[in-house]
Amino acid sequence: MMANILDGKALSQKLRAGFKQRIESLAARGVRTGLAVIQVGNDPASQIYVRNKINACEQAGIHSEKHLFPAKATQRQVFDKIAELNADPAIHGILVQLPLPAEIDQHALLEAIDLEKDVDGFRAENVGALALGNPRFIPCTPYGIMKFFDSENIGLAGKEAVIVGRSNIVGKPLASLLMGAGATVTLCHSKTCDLASHCRRAEILVVAIGRPAFVTADMIKPGAIVIDVGINRLPDGTLCGDVDFERVKEIASFITPVPGGVGPMTITMLMANTLQSAERARRRNAA
Ligand code: NDP
Repeated sequence: MMANILDGKALSQKLRAGFKQRIESLAARGVRTGLAVIQVGNDPASQIYVRNKINACEQAGIHSEKHLFPAKATQRQVFDKIAELNADPAIHGILVQLPLPAEIDQHALLEAIDLEKDVDGFRAENVGALALGNPRFIPCTPYGIMKFFDSENIGLAGKEAVIVGRSNIVGKPLASLLMGAGATVTLCHSKTCDLASHCRRAEILVVAIGRPAFVTADMIKPGAIVIDVGINRLPDGTLCGDVDFERVKEIASFITPVPGGVGPMTITMLMANTLQSAERARRRNAA
């Protein structure tokens, strides 16, 4: 069997085309959808991610601005910027690019973002709302993964889903979403015993660990749907995922490539959340 490739660029294009009319309709009412991205320090990967987010927004007609702070910036300086952006009616989404320098209290900083502008969905209240099945914002990477299932009409109820990686930004929120959709979810991590046996049970396998080609073909159930979230830069500069794509694609029914799979979808869902936030703000202001 040769897997169908879940093409994140193509799906993104389709979804972004659908945003256009909504962005224009807001513009016609005098609302310019706006996103602010805060970056602290010059981590090379963060620089690329932030640039990609800003470019994608600008291409779609979403105003976006980058606020770059030196690695030695004080927590107060970044807090003050967040307070300013919280009060700015032209900004509908605020994103703090992670990771932050160790001296900055990440939790406190994320909690400073206005709940209605927390387009990453990382604030505790927004995490709780998602866990209760009533999300204000769905974190962008898990949201993008769910869109792949939608786009292929892949039913999730009753499916055996295994997620490898329990981070707050991918594994945990995705577990909530898959559970909500009726899948039976196993969340694995670095302490999991016999990881391979869990993976082999999976009808849906999502891998988000950050280890190049860690999941090999012998860990895959024939016909499984494999979502590779990992982004790893190899010594020769190329990118690869957490899954051995070349071999696994011969066994899986669907697979996401790296690059061109989950990555573009994460950016697309950031745009979706920012747009949704702008639409909500307009409704609040009109009421
Ligand atoms: P974290 O480092 O926050 O979490 C990694 C998770 O993987 C942890 O739960 C860890 O377990 C688990 N893990 C690590 N090694 C193993 C192992 N050998 N076996 C089983 N589990 C393991 O990473 P993120 O979730 O932030 O990111 C994961 C990957 O996804 C990275 O490559 C990142 O670049 C990529 N990413 C891609 C995005 C995209 O848009 N495509 C978006 C976000 C992330 P434990 O908790 O026990 O330590």
